[in-house]
Amino acid sequence: MSTFHLEKLVRENVARLKPYSSARDEFKDFHQDMVFLDANENPYNNGVNRYPDPQQITLKQHLSTVKRVPVDQILLGNGSDEVLDLLFRAFSEPKTDNVITLPPTYGMYSVLAATNDIANREVMLTKEFQPDVHAVLEQVDHQTKMIFLCSPNNPTANSFEAESIEKLLRSFRGLIIVDEAYIDFAEGESWSTRLQEYPNLVIIQTLSKAYGLAGIRLGICYASAEIIAILNKIKPPYNVNELTQKRALERVLDAEKVETEINFILKERDTLSKVLLQVDFVQHVFPSEANFILARVDNANKRYDQLIQKGIVVRNRSTQALCENTLRFTVGTPDENKKLIAALNELD
Ligand SMILES: *Cc1c(COP(=O)(O)O)cnc(C)c1O
Repeated sequence: MSTFHLEKLVRENVARLKPYSSARDEFKDFHQDMVFLDANENPYNNGVNRYPDPQQITLKQHLSTVKRVPVDQILLGNGSDEVLDLLFRAFSEPKTDNVITLPPTYGMYSVLAATNDIANREVMLTKEFQPDVHAVLEQVDHQTKMIFLCSPNNPTANSFEAESIEKLLRSFRGLIIVDEAYIDFAEGESWSTRLQEYPNLVIIQTLSKAYGLAGIRLGICYASAEIIAILNKIKPPYNVNELTQKRALERVLDAEKVETEINFILKERDTLSKVLLQVDFVQHVFPSEANFILARVDNANKRYDQLIQKGIVVRNRSTQALCENTLRFTVGTPDENKKLIAALNELD
């Protein structure tokens, strides 16, 4: 692997800055029965009158057990969107640096690049929706700080070949961000098992999809302890609120229920893939490793509008590269999927 120097990637002001030290950072021993008069809180207990744990230790400890990643290699954020934004702010210099993204993919990478004034070099996926590793590496220069890989990819629903990700991890001196929002629906295992091998590997997960907690906003980042320490320096002190920490913990402790739901969704996904293929105007159903299905239809705009008329909202992905005339269907409950299929079969 080409040599990796983390210190060369950190934005200069971030390397220099001294982080805000909150009351809860300065005194951490929550277990003792102490009188807390240090944070200007309202003393009357209503369950959330105290500031939340800025390091979310209890939640991280449980995640650490479930995901088998040490606590000091975990950072939590207000959704993965916050985690992604922290990565931009820590590791790229506005107006100077660039990142590489692989369309068609998740829209937030380019939005965050734009808000942070970082150039986004787009290298199209191949026709099989796989990274064109050679073309990606050709776009790399000294100012390239991060490459974003979404696997399983949104909206194409496939996972990227491990050899391609590995080749990029070995060849690139910057950070490889693997967004695993849909990993719990995929056959392959998480790249989190490879963190010790690759100091430039950053993995993003979320409780928004398989864990069914989109409403509480909890994003997860796994990386080396050094990378996590830098992100910790710039994260807002109380970025994960108390209610979110509580609900997330309950859910992480209820692994069985999560697994049951995932299995229901996987079963429905396979059924839905098959029946979609029998719909008249559906031309192709792409294989899925996620909780949604991308399908090519005769006329996506027309079919999208017709479905809206019938009260069913899907995602029209036609404007995305390589996705002409495609619709993206999230796998719903058996009842919702039946309604979808019935509606599709009624369209003319
Ligand atoms: C849904 C999704 C996310 C989740 O974002 P949150 O902010 O955690 O809800 C992240 N990445 C991809 C590719 C997604 O599709």
